[in-house]
Amino acid sequence: MNLLTLHNIEKRYGNKLALCNVNLEVKRGEILAVVGPNGAGKTTLLKIMALIEASSRGEMYYGDIKISKDKIEEFRRKFTMVFQKSVFFNTSVYENIAYGLKMRKLPKNEIKQRVQEALQLVKLEGYAKRQARKLSGGEQQRVSLARALALETELLLLDEPTANLDPKTVSIIEEAIADVNRRMKTTIVIATHNMFQAQNMTHRTALILNGKIVEIGKTKEIFTSSTRLQSFASLENVFSGNAEPRPDGTTIIDIGEGIKIQAAINTCGKVSVFVMPEDIILSKRPLISSARNVLKGTIIEISDFGSIVRLRVGVNGLSFVVQITKRSFLEMRLNLGSKVFLTFKASSVRLV
Ligand code: ADP
Repeated sequence: MNLLTLHNIEKRYGNKLALCNVNLEVKRGEILAVVGPNGAGKTTLLKIMALIEASSRGEMYYGDIKISKDKIEEFRRKFTMVFQKSVFFNTSVYENIAYGLKMRKLPKNEIKQRVQEALQLVKLEGYAKRQARKLSGGEQQRVSLARALALETELLLLDEPTANLDPKTVSIIEEAIADVNRRMKTTIVIATHNMFQAQNMTHRTALILNGKIVEIGKTKEIFTSSTRLQSFASLENVFSGNAEPRPDGTTIIDIGEGIKIQAAINTCGKVSVFVMPEDIILSKRPLISSARNVLKGTIIEISDFGSIVRLRVGVNGLSFVVQITKRSFLEMRLNLGSKVFLTFKASSVRLV
């Protein structure tokens, strides 16, 4: 049984087509991952499902009931969206979580109980009286999730719930999500660019590229089919930009934010390229090598996968994912905020 069905959804921002002819079924009780590179349309899709944004065209159904304009308020209460960046009232954690419950006019006792349970789920018992705005980024993200969980809505839409967070916070958030899905049967849609997260915690995965859902299916099947895996793996470091050929047969691609990369591709005009995380060498000092691309950045996310560590490195306004062994990670004494250099060959830059 579908909780939500999207039929031919289109979203335009002025001339920009952010979503194009999206058909999607969200099944009751599932965790659905929406994966895709930055700018693919994930947030827009979630906002439309949360009834926060109106689509430019198409229909949405709750079960088999059409969500018409006059019913939006009624349906909005069934869904909650957690944004990447949360806004808090300048008051306690308790009041921030209780606010939505008070608006729903729940009895005081029930509000108290729900706030406590939600705080337990995100492992923040004892934080009720703390000032929400004074918490760390990771703690705020947990409060933000607790605020959504306390509402006990049928559908939870999470936009990049663990982006830019430390590994401990990531695992607390992932556990809380899995827990409510298992115990409360809450239907969850997670927009993420973290392939490991999609692979490990969701039942189905939809891949969105340029505003279109290009693949959808059982997560296990999607991740084990090799051609698809390739496209997933490549999603991590996808960049678009203008390519200008050079006389030596290579191309300089301006990917924005002042970053130009050199590619061994003979092409010009607008292109999308990717670099596999394992093709990038990470070092603490600039390397003297034949590789044409050297970028300086800062580690902004660390994901520990046992013998392998994946790092997200911010370079100006963009970010690159790099994969290194745990051993190198420890030997190099890397941490969030460490300054590093990324080096890759022009031949490692491939067309999408
Ligand atoms: P993602 O979440 O996958 O990074 P978004 O849904 O945020 O992608 O954006 C999809 C596209 O729509 C992007 O090209 C983005 O620039 C554009 N877009 C999103 N929101 C707006 C807006 N409010 N006004 C104009 N363009 C927007």
